[in-house]
Amino acid sequence: MEKIVILGGGPAGCTAALYTARADLKPLVLEGEISQTLLPGGQLMTTTEVENFPGYPEGVSGPELMADLKKQAEKFGARFEYKTVTSVDLSGYPLKLFVNEEVYETQALIIATGATARYLGLESEQRFMNKGVSACATCDGALPRFRGKPMVVVGGGDSAMEEALFLTKFADRVHVVHRRDKLRASKIMGDRVLNHPKITMEWNSVVDEILGNDSDGVTGVRLKDTRTGELREVPCSGYFAAIGHQPNTELFKGILELEGSGYLVTQKGSTYTSVPGVFACGDVQDKTYRQAITAAGSGCMAALDAARWLESREET
Ligand code: NAP
Repeated sequence: MEKIVILGGGPAGCTAALYTARADLKPLVLEGEISQTLLPGGQLMTTTEVENFPGYPEGVSGPELMADLKKQAEKFGARFEYKTVTSVDLSGYPLKLFVNEEVYETQALIIATGATARYLGLESEQRFMNKGVSACATCDGALPRFRGKPMVVVGGGDSAMEEALFLTKFADRVHVVHRRDKLRASKIMGDRVLNHPKITMEWNSVVDEILGNDSDGVTGVRLKDTRTGELREVPCSGYFAAIGHQPNTELFKGILELEGSGYLVTQKGSTYTSVPGVFACGDVQDKTYRQAITAAGSGCMAALDAARWLESREET
């Protein structure tokens, strides 16, 4: 039986692995399809340059950062297996994780399965991924390819507002494409966008197609008016989808407490979930900050919470 299993190998999972390994708990990290968009390592694996992770003054590529985090955890004895957990039984101890017929038993569990950015589902989003298509302005907005150029953000919620405002630092114009004539975002965020001289609202519009070519990547979008069906083109070098995130909590429905949009509920100021011995960290329980560094920070918290919980059980 394992002392601790960590589900997910992104920044939260790797940091939890580092801390639990150093506490001699010999963590096993299971990362597979559940951890993120079919890629072990999480969302950072689809991010080109990370310039805001402390400790890398020259910036670092997402995959390189993940390789470093993993290496650091492995150095202290963390084990990583590429396994997709298919179901869980958290109704008693030991906790059980199933990979099809195979069973993993563990005393404690840290869930760090992340969240997946939602895209519209256009084929062109895939084609131009990392060539102008992104779902994270904070990660990618400052890249040279976007500087001084027009950009497009899709969505009318707080994420879209935040992305658009952030992009005004680099873009010469930001077009916010929203399918209705009223924002979903909070008034304060919406007002900032509506009053910003560099932002143009494209109301009642959806992205019909992303335009571009293999050498330049994204060069524009074709928008469709939702009322008239009329098509028009907007030139841009960046397309940012900001239509929400989907936390990867499918496995835990009906088993752990989830809030309305599917995020795992943790107790305020800690990483305890609704089942003792099960902890959650990173984007799977965070819809506010969603940064690699905040995920890593909460991974550390989960490791400390889990280690103390295991210790308290040994004492009783
Ligand atoms: P959200 O509030 O669900 O907004 C998603 C937006 O995308 C909506 O405007 C929606 O349009 C649009 N959308 C969804 N599917 C679409 C589609 N297929 N085609 C076109 N448009 C589509 O998601 P979010 O902005 O990521 O925010 C999630 C939560 O995090 C919210 O509670 C938000 O307040 C919070 N948040 C807070 C902050 C902050 O306070 N700084 C920052 C980010 C997020 P409709 O409006 O027509 O449905």
